[in-house]
Amino acid sequence: MPPSEDPQEFREVLRQSKNIIAIAGAGLSAGSGIPTWRDTGGVWKTHNPATLATPAAFSADPIAVWRHYHEMRERALKAEPNPAHYALSLLCLPSYLATVAPSAKFTLITQNIDGLSIRALKKTVARSRGQAVAPGALDATVSLGSCVFEMHGRVLDTLCTACGHVEHNDASPLCPALANPVPQVTDTTLTVDDLPHCAHCGGLLRPGVVWFDELPRHSREIWGTVDEADLCLVIGTSSTVQPAVAYVHEVAEHGGKVAVFNTQRGDDDDESCTFLFLGPCEETLPRTLFDISVSQ
Ligand SMILES: [Zn+2]
Repeated sequence: MPPSEDPQEFREVLRQSKNIIAIAGAGLSAGSGIPTWRDTGGVWKTHNPATLATPAAFSADPIAVWRHYHEMRERALKAEPNPAHYALSLLCLPSYLATVAPSAKFTLITQNIDGLSIRALKKTVARSRGQAVAPGALDATVSLGSCVFEMHGRVLDTLCTACGHVEHNDASPLCPALANPVPQVTDTTLTVDDLPHCAHCGGLLRPGVVWFDELPRHSREIWGTVDEADLCLVIGTSSTVQPAVAYVHEVAEHGGKVAVFNTQRGDDDDESCTFLFLGPCEETLPRTLFDISVSQ
């Protein structure tokens, strides 16, 4: 049976759900101007992941890797969360969640490294503290750590290659050598000593993201929520590519429902999902979840 595109039918399923998870991919941040990875214009259309996003690539040429991640950091710093991030942030507020799904828990699992989901959530929590928007509908009893799992790390974090220390650092640039454009300095004059180093042990820092050949973060906690989920929202990614496909398969296996919000129909979406809402998720998600537009 083809998936339903009926928002009212979806909201009824949402209302009855007990454990809701959302798995978000690059399409969630596309509306914020963050390039996707493999689509037309995507990062891996013009760069080779093997030379920039693996531990081996960093060992071979840390300067080239840092230059690339400097650009990604700058893009993330300039970007703002879009209405899809804000819609998801509302689901993280227990009392707001209760208005659309009275007995549900919600967990967001994002593949994105731009930190925009956390920024939207912090802004939503701050707003809920400062304003009496829909009295009783918003509160601040939200735990960032248990509501949002950033499975691929954060581009604004640094990770020490020597002592393992992880730190959030939104300095721009992270160090003078990464300033863009670099005045009077070419790549060939830079040395590893010019790159960011750990304030604790002096070791070389690397971007705090998960690279190819590395294990995603929070795997145990994520699978715990997937195992319990009776509704899985797939946002800005196809339900038929990893890692979403593994979660979708597991949720469907134990009788849960799957709702896809994406610009394109995946090859097997008709078989794997109960609901399909095609279009930019910054439009479809607020409209479908709440029957409203969420302002920024
Ligand atoms: Zn260190």
